[in-house]
Amino acid sequence: MAGPNFISQVISGWGRFPVEPCQVFRPERRAELAAILASGAQGNYLPRGLGRSYGDAALNAQGGVISLTRLNRFLGFDPSGGILECEAGVSFAEILRHFLPRGFFPPVTPGTKFVTLGGAIAADVHGKNHHRDGTLANFILDFKLLTPSGEVRVCSRDTNPQIFWTTLGGMGLTGIVLSARVNLRKVESAYVLVDYERAQNLQEALDAMEESDERYAYSVAWIDCLARGKSTGRAVLMRGNHAARAQLPKRVKNPLAEPPRLRWSLPFDLPSFALNSLSVKAFNAFYYASHRNAVGQLVDFESFFYPLDAIENWNRLYGKRGFVQYQVAIPQESSRRGLAAVLERLSQSRRASFLAVLKRFGDANPGPLSFPFRGCTLALDLPVTNGLVPFLREMDRVVIGYGGRVYLAKDALLKAEDFAAMYPGAERFRAVKSQLDPKGLLSSSLGRRLGLV
Ligand SMILES: Cc1cc2nc3c(=O)[nH]c(=O)nc-3n(C[C@H](O)[C@H](O)[C@H](O)COP(=O)(O)OP(=O)(O)OC[C@H]3O[C@@H](n4cnc5c(N)ncnc54)[C@H](O)[C@@H]3O)c2cc1C
Repeated sequence: MAGPNFISQVISGWGRFPVEPCQVFRPERRAELAAILASGAQGNYLPRGLGRSYGDAALNAQGGVISLTRLNRFLGFDPSGGILECEAGVSFAEILRHFLPRGFFPPVTPGTKFVTLGGAIAADVHGKNHHRDGTLANFILDFKLLTPSGEVRVCSRDTNPQIFWTTLGGMGLTGIVLSARVNLRKVESAYVLVDYERAQNLQEALDAMEESDERYAYSVAWIDCLARGKSTGRAVLMRGNHAARAQLPKRVKNPLAEPPRLRWSLPFDLPSFALNSLSVKAFNAFYYASHRNAVGQLVDFESFFYPLDAIENWNRLYGKRGFVQYQVAIPQESSRRGLAAVLERLSQSRRASFLAVLKRFGDANPGPLSFPFRGCTLALDLPVTNGLVPFLREMDRVVIGYGGRVYLAKDALLKAEDFAAMYPGAERFRAVKSQLDPKGLLSSSLGRRLGLV
């Protein structure tokens, strides 16, 4: 009898590096999932959402990859508490389309709405509100997990708590999240009131964020990673709160409607030299100059939370070889020195990051592989070039020296020993993983590279 259908495909994450051959399954019914796992024909398997992790977290070279995007039904909604139950393949874009008009917003959202709930749970995503609200974990009531043995387990803080926390941030290696109940946030409008403030350098940016972040639900800073000397780390701070209905101007007729937005598409890969220090420098000068200090600017949610979603395939900007997003967290006590050291190394290497984003993190949660802890995080987009690997190895050592770590949802290059130094919870993770999956049915390229499987 023929086994479940798959297509052999060469796929990648959002950074288009690495690119690997996988056998991709696209089941339409839940029952097919257990059949795929039970067939064992591909050796091992990995769930995948919308492929918005950057490196190899959603890749399983030569193995099976199970796309969950067709398992995307809404299962129930309780408007009194804002509790949504849906399948793991539902995307944040779909949640927004259906629930924003009813006055509900994702409680924590990454910088793109094209992620699935399952992928967001597996990475335990954080948003611009981590300093206040923590990660998505804080809003997940429970989920159903198909474990490698074929059992379906309900996991919450009280039921199977160890599996609950190990799956949040567990990068798809503990089981397949089938569905989850998530507590949405009540909002009165589709808009955010944003304060813009320029900071002359990194220290000024961090001072301003530390002093005022509690007043803002959302806080993020764009960093000019090419500024030098006294201006190193000059920044534009963007901080805001959801706008209440009464704060909207009269021209906004329907406060909860998704604002119309032009969408562009990049139809071809830009040549890899297009984003170089000169073009990034020109862009940065323009960006800094065009953001003057301003208070209470009304910004629609798409522009504030998802500015890059306006350009479909913006990842082609980096050319055919792709790029790596290098996102690190540095603990509070060493964050100023650590961030300065990272920016200094970047500048010494004469590399330019087109996008450099700084956020503050609140407290960590019990998830052994959950990325955030109290301190700061910086994300840099770096095109793949010949010297990138040794450069990032050196950066990893710098980050470890300051007690920091790299975000697995963005990672493509970390070495197992550096990972072990960054994530002391890895042992705990492996203990739960080996109980749930003694035969190693779930695996990934990232998991093998880091010694997680
Ligand atoms: C422009 C952009 C901005 C971003 N901004 C942020 C940000 O601000 N904060 C942040 O935290 N992240 C951010 N990310 C990263 C993104 O949120 C995560 O990588 C997320 O995991 C992607 O979800 P996905 O559905 O695309 O999952 P995929 O990339 O397909 O998979 C990611 C991981 O989830 C696992 N997985 C997927 N579905 C399931 C399932 N049903 N059950 C179990 N495991 C599953 C996969 O095995 C894999 O390990 C950003 C990404 C982009 C492209």
